[in-house]
Amino acid sequence: MTTNTVASKIPFSDLCKLCEKVSCAKKPHKQEILKKYIKYFRDYAEKFTSESPQVDTSFYPVMRLLLPQLDRERGPYGVKEHTLAVIYIRILCLPKGEIDAEKLLNYRAPKSGGSQAGDFADVAYWILKRKCPDKGNLTVENVNNYLDNIALKNASNDRRGMELELIQMLKDMSAFDQKWLIRILLKDMKLGLGQTSIFNAFHLDAKDLYDVSNSLEKICNMLKDPNHRLHELEVEIFSPFRPMLAEQCSIQKVEECFKRHSLFYVETKHDGERFQLHYKNNTFKYFSRNGFEYTEVYGSSSYKGGLSPQLAKCISKNITSCIIDGEMMVWDKRKKFFRTKGENIEVKALKESSGLKPCFCVFDVLMYNDQVVTNKPLEDRYALLKEIFIPEEGVVMLTERTKVTSKEEVISHINQAIDSKLEGIMMKQPMSVYKPNNRKAGWYKIKPEYTEGLMDHLDTIIMGGYYGEGRRSGFISHFLVGLAVPNTEGDPVEFHSLTRVGSGYTMTKLEELLSKMDPHWNRVVPGVRPSGLEWAREKPDVWIEPQKSYILQIKATEIVDSRQNAFKTNYTLRFPRVEDIRYDKKWSDCMTLAEFEDLRKNAEGK
Ligand code: ATP
Repeated sequence: MTTNTVASKIPFSDLCKLCEKVSCAKKPHKQEILKKYIKYFRDYAEKFTSESPQVDTSFYPVMRLLLPQLDRERGPYGVKEHTLAVIYIRILCLPKGEIDAEKLLNYRAPKSGGSQAGDFADVAYWILKRKCPDKGNLTVENVNNYLDNIALKNASNDRRGMELELIQMLKDMSAFDQKWLIRILLKDMKLGLGQTSIFNAFHLDAKDLYDVSNSLEKICNMLKDPNHRLHELEVEIFSPFRPMLAEQCSIQKVEECFKRHSLFYVETKHDGERFQLHYKNNTFKYFSRNGFEYTEVYGSSSYKGGLSPQLAKCISKNITSCIIDGEMMVWDKRKKFFRTKGENIEVKALKESSGLKPCFCVFDVLMYNDQVVTNKPLEDRYALLKEIFIPEEGVVMLTERTKVTSKEEVISHINQAIDSKLEGIMMKQPMSVYKPNNRKAGWYKIKPEYTEGLMDHLDTIIMGGYYGEGRRSGFISHFLVGLAVPNTEGDPVEFHSLTRVGSGYTMTKLEELLSKMDPHWNRVVPGVRPSGLEWAREKPDVWIEPQKSYILQIKATEIVDSRQNAFKTNYTLRFPRVEDIRYDKKWSDCMTLAEFEDLRKNAEGK
């Protein structure tokens, strides 16, 4: 079928030649080659329109083949290297064990893949070269039609139909065309030219428009003229945008942040999956960070899906439309807490029977009753966000946020986050506007590992325990650990408290440790200090005799002064985490205060 489009006039082989030229060119020339091609396309399209005005001149059919990984209009093809290998072996009638069949099946192995090993498209090309026509006769439009059909057949689980479409297409292609088709199918073009360079070659506003729309089609249709610049780029309802990102920030950098701004917000850093919800007149659409739609999973209206029916009840009556940004989390209905990514639970495929459900933790708003609010400062957006819905535990929750005015406050929030087994915190500048896909616009992610000077591990002894709160109430979740102070003979007779630690281990590891310690805990009685255990203001709920205790190997970022006489050693650790429980070591193998002093002085000297 040929239609009145420029794409129907472009031989697919020409596009393949362009790709080959770009991929072989030296880095500085790649973009120029592409620019020349796009100019040629535009000139041709103009000439064509003057002859027949109804013609579709969009570059989209070409763009989606150049950037197959960003094509959101077509579903997945269900084609991987192995599928292609099997199909080629069948259509080329290659006997089992024959060298070419082996090369296709084991394309990664240097032995069978030959000099092209590792790249399936290249391996296939050298095999097909001897067996296929020299010239292909498909147009860009034909190839797109075939790819549409393949995606449709794959979506309806029609494997046979999918393969027939593919085979039909391959019959009309040269080996060279097939090499590039394979790369399109595998969504890895290996052009050596990044997507931003491809966008810039097309139009200077292409990248920004992609960030707010996630649509190659929109870019190609709205930016046909390279000299026409867009003034306002706005998010649109039901069109996925690229969410704003955060810059990595170390504690050292936090200090610099406070030199520039006196106030920041600290937010919980959720451990889920970034999602955006678009809502208008009882229609819901959910998109992932990369613009994939998951409305089927969460529900397109208040009548269906795993989240929308409950969420609809929380949306305020005066809200007609909104776009909100947040993190989709896994909520444990029975235990009433969030499960973490580390548990490998897929938030996009939760079963009713699992006792787990999705809960949307929202931290930003981009549209409020048809008004785009991305240019309002975060503090104003946050005020609007609070009006959109009434939070309900396990359905939709507002991300917790506190104001901070000093580095010390930020550090205390990180410590709390680590205590609660979170990997870090988010810090945001209250006046920042929402910039899609931007990582340097006023949002920071702070994790202990971004902080320089990570120290060696320390073997500390458990002196006491603290009962947990919330989900961890009723059992010991944190420990007071200390260092040994030997007598003149070198025997550890006293232990001085150093820090409190409550993260790093898994639940299973903690349970195993607690079961060993359980019979030996003693309640701390005010005013009574067990002999040999020296703590200061920071007192545990229960204590344990050193001889019955265990060694925790701890990693921290820094040794710092212990404030307000909190720990006996007068020092403490910043961001302590348990690396290992050393059952192989005896209680007396605990690090001594003198060894610790050496470490501290060494670290100071760095
Ligand atoms: P990045 O998203 O920055 O590329 P990443 O995917 O490796 O990096 P992290 O470094 O762990 O993720 O953290 C950043 C991510 O944290 C964000 O993309 C977002 O999905 C998530 N996040 C969690 N809580 C928040 C929050 N309160 N505000 C913004 N983002 C948050």
